Order: sequence, then structure tokens, then C-alpha cells
Amino acid sequence: MKISHIEHIGIAVKSLDEAIPFYESLLGLKCYNIEEVKEQKVKTAFFKVGQTKIELLESTDAEGPIGKFLEKRGEGVHHIAYAVENIEEQLKTAEENGIRLIDKTPRKGAEGLDIAFLHPKSTFGVLTELCENKNK
Ligand code: ZN
Repeated sequence: MKISHIEHIGIAVKSLDEAIPFYESLLGLKCYNIEEVKEQKVKTAFFKVGQTKIELLESTDAEGPIGKFLEKRGEGVHHIAYAVENIEEQLKTAEENGIRLIDKTPRKGAEGLDIAFLHPKSTFGVLTELCENKNK
């Protein structure tokens, strides 16, 4: 695979209202975007750290993926997202190498990125996201 950098780290939180002030006041990062991704039943808040972002994830529905994660594991790191080029080809390579895919084809994520997840059972317990910015 050809990974250029860590695009973002996704962190599940119970409440954006509670978590954002920690990131802004204590860490001194600026929240530059809040976006709801209805399909994922999640509200996201983004901070930039160099060329990497922190993506806070608040569940909007207990039955959604973040709702279930919070229920089972509590707050914490949820996934790591790598920036790639030609995401379709990277998914094919992953599949050919026996990696279990959650998304066989990319879908639209926050910030208009094309994203796809690899199953944590195939990635040493880390939910791994590939993403490509096709708008740049
Ligand atoms: Zn993500």
C-alpha cells in the first residue's frame, strides 16, 4: 500500500460539548469544523495538528457504530485513518492479501473524503480507515 500520512485519528466521546473545550482550552487546538454524518449516526468535530487531524466522534443514536462502541468500550481511540491515493486499488490489494474489509467499495465520509474501513480482526485490533481526498 502507498500511505502518505496519518489523515486523522478518530476518538469516540460521549459529548462534543464536554470534549471540545478540553481540546481548545487545554491543548490549544482550534475546532474548525463540526459536521453530522447521518449515515454513520455520528456528529464529528475536527482539529488540525500539523497535517493530521483529530476527529472527535459523538454518537447521535445508541444503535449506531459509535453508540455501540461507547457502550462496549467506553470513550477512547476508535480508529486510525491513513491517507492513500487510489483508494479502490488499495482496497483490492488489502483484500488480495487476506485482509477483511468492512467496506468493499469506498463511501463518502466527513469532509467529502472517500473512505473505507478495514476490519480490526485483520489489523491487530485497530479499526483502520483508508481515505482519499479526491477534491484536491
Ligand atoms: Zn475517520
